[in-house]
Amino acid sequence: MTDSILERMAPGVREIRPYEPGKPIAELAREHGLSDIIKLASNENPLGPSAAAVQAYAQCAAELARYPDGGGFDLKQALARRHGVAPACITLGNGSNDILVMLAEAFLTPGRESVCSQYAFAAYPIAVQCTGAKGRVAPAHPAGGPMAMGHDLRAMTEQVNEQTALVYIANPNNPTGTLVNGDELRTFIAALPEQVTVVVDEAYWDYVKAGDYPDTTQWLDEYPNLVVTRTFSKAFGLAGLRVGYSVSSPAIADAMNRVRQPFNTSIPAQVAALAALGDSAHMQRSIAVNDDGLRTLSAALEDMDIGYVPSVCNFILADMGRPAAPVFEALLKAGVIVRPVANYGLPDHLRISIGLPEENARLIRALREILNRDPVAEPRSR
Ligand SMILES: *Cc1c(COP(=O)(O)O)cnc(C)c1O
Repeated sequence: MTDSILERMAPGVREIRPYEPGKPIAELAREHGLSDIIKLASNENPLGPSAAAVQAYAQCAAELARYPDGGGFDLKQALARRHGVAPACITLGNGSNDILVMLAEAFLTPGRESVCSQYAFAAYPIAVQCTGAKGRVAPAHPAGGPMAMGHDLRAMTEQVNEQTALVYIANPNNPTGTLVNGDELRTFIAALPEQVTVVVDEAYWDYVKAGDYPDTTQWLDEYPNLVVTRTFSKAFGLAGLRVGYSVSSPAIADAMNRVRQPFNTSIPAQVAALAALGDSAHMQRSIAVNDDGLRTLSAALEDMDIGYVPSVCNFILADMGRPAAPVFEALLKAGVIVRPVANYGLPDHLRISIGLPEENARLIRALREILNRDPVAEPRSR
């Protein structure tokens, strides 16, 4: 890229490192001539979506010449009922990533600031940088201690000042799989100055079992500056359709609606999401498959003496104790795609999504073979 293009870019955009998605199966097939590939790289539901969602998706084909309902009436009604709020509290997004961006656009501008945690989901800094606002990053809890690598809400509070307009909290967080509990979160939100909008990103909500994990969609009456985001991409198995939503006060929903692209959720996305909401049996199966896989993979990592951050999600952050890139490459050659996280400042870690039982077994086999065959470097002492 020429320097002059860099100079012409908006200053915030100049600083952006583009989001690095998980490697698509088709790309690995092209590059390595492999056919039997499994992808455990993007925290997708290995069971796929509900059959009812697939059927609704297929049935809407005849309507595709029409624009979608820009207001997403039916889906908003269903989500409002689910959370016991008014439909005016619901905002639909082209994935919940879209919501994260709308919030930045609606509340940030050069001179204002945003706060997130070290190791927090990579979409936050990108959304912030686009606006020209300053992003502050609070150090996470140290690895090895209690709540290892999780958000340190006290450290985040220390980064809040008079310029702060937006705070992002991933609960649980990706890529660490860590949680902040209800009491801590309440204390944090209650102490925020009035001008701060706080986003609690609950992309993995359905998977979490912890008893002290709050349903913050029930907190809106107490905290009008709170926005909760959820997605159909993870446990609902609809990542390819791009649909997510937020629950907030009507006033914050109005702010987002001003910057929202008119038809940001498609007809297929709206009808499939609506059908998925009604299939609780599929959700229960998805959660059961994940619980089982999480146990299996955690135990296997322990057995291989690979450190990991205990996860409440559908993925595990594993500490290879050595540069992870060669392990990632060797897994690719074995047809297994996982996620490198060097972009998070974690060059020794890999993030591994939970798959079907046979996929987990294959990943574990491949990892064992690789680590036995060629110790890529001397393991560092932990
Ligand atoms: C996957 C993910 C999202 C949402 O992705 P969408 O597909 O855009 O809904 C949001 N936050 C976190 C922490 C995630 O891991």
